[in-house]
Amino acid sequence: MPQLESRIAELVEKFTEVYGSSPELIVRAPGRVNLIGEHTDYNDGYVLPVAIDRDVLVAASRTSDMHVSLYSVNFDRVAGFDLDRPIRRDSVNKWSNYPRGVAVMLQKRRKRILGVNMVVEGNVPLGSGLSSSAAFEVASALMFKALNGFEMEDTEIALLCQAAENEFVGVNCGIMDQFVSCLGKKDHALFVDCRTLDHESVPMASGVKVIVADTMKKRGLVDSEYNLRRSQCEEAVSILRTYLPNIKALRDVTVSDFKSHGHRLPPTVRRRAEHVVRENERVLESVEALRAGSVVIFGRLMDQSHESLRDSYEVSCRELDVMVDAARRVPGVFGSRMTGAGFGGCTVSIVADDSVKDFLEPVPEEYKSRTGIEPAVYVCTPENGAEILPYTEPSVS
Ligand code: ADP
Ligand code: MG
Repeated sequence: MPQLESRIAELVEKFTEVYGSSPELIVRAPGRVNLIGEHTDYNDGYVLPVAIDRDVLVAASRTSDMHVSLYSVNFDRVAGFDLDRPIRRDSVNKWSNYPRGVAVMLQKRRKRILGVNMVVEGNVPLGSGLSSSAAFEVASALMFKALNGFEMEDTEIALLCQAAENEFVGVNCGIMDQFVSCLGKKDHALFVDCRTLDHESVPMASGVKVIVADTMKKRGLVDSEYNLRRSQCEEAVSILRTYLPNIKALRDVTVSDFKSHGHRLPPTVRRRAEHVVRENERVLESVEALRAGSVVIFGRLMDQSHESLRDSYEVSCRELDVMVDAARRVPGVFGSRMTGAGFGGCTVSIVADDSVKDFLEPVPEEYKSRTGIEPAVYVCTPENGAEILPYTEPSVS
């Protein structure tokens, strides 16, 4: 990966410029995209994301005090905080809240962490829905772990980073992003059961790319509509429990249960629940399809997921629909759908290697001509989760 090598070289140079010596270690943690399983996480259901070949890199060294110094290449800003004083949120350098939150959560779990100098650089687009935030958290956690020499399983790191984002940064995200950033595997998707956190790598079809297309539509409405969907799902569970006493979440409702009892629900709640029930089923079918090497069936399931998110869950928007429509016109696109919470953000498409070139110009062009917005397109491949990169600190002579 020549690009990674040159990024590392620049990172080391920057670190040396800022702190006057080279770093002790370099950590990378990837962003992610969810292939299928949307709005299932908070229903205790299934998701199928991939870690992508875009990541956040952190270079770091121990210091002899309790101060954490930070420099972000992306923001060209410094920030810092003390580990022996209460760590507060920074309202000016908001980007520093991610490692702050991680440090707070490590301290809460009684991990002894000492001061560090850090430089962070990332090529996950910020705020596009590819989870640069989770990548930054996971890279920070792995860095603290390596430099302070404590033990922590990947699953626990993911949970800790989620807690940092939920409780410290104040963003209500599920476990998927941090989980796949820790546990992703090259050329595989990660099947995750959001209730038990059981997980399994599933081979991605060969000869395809994962193309993410950012509609660049600001995700307005998303918080209030998201909360509304969550409460509608809870309402569905509380009504269905009369007939299915053992259910705890929509994840426990099978398609056949739903066929028998769905009519008990008010119309809107019914459509919401139907999406979740069938989407969980689609994730399971997707895992089967990928295991069997059938990218055609997998693509069809992705298409159905989009239709369901648009018509039943009603979280799509014109821009997402136009992008999906434009993508599906390209021969060699197996499936295309919105990904993420909706009301803007990105689509994800599975595209044959040979057809990537047929996607890259026509799709953005058609999207722009129909919406007036210039989109951003990222061709991705499934990558490994977070890791400490091979790097040897030059010896001081
Ligand atoms: P997403 O996770 O979809 O990219 P978020 O708004 O959740 O969007 O997270 C983006 C934020 O994460 C950025 O605004 C910044 O505060 C932080 N962040 C991510 N990468 C970096 C980086 N390389 N340097 C500094 N901050 C970063
Ligand atoms: Mg985020």
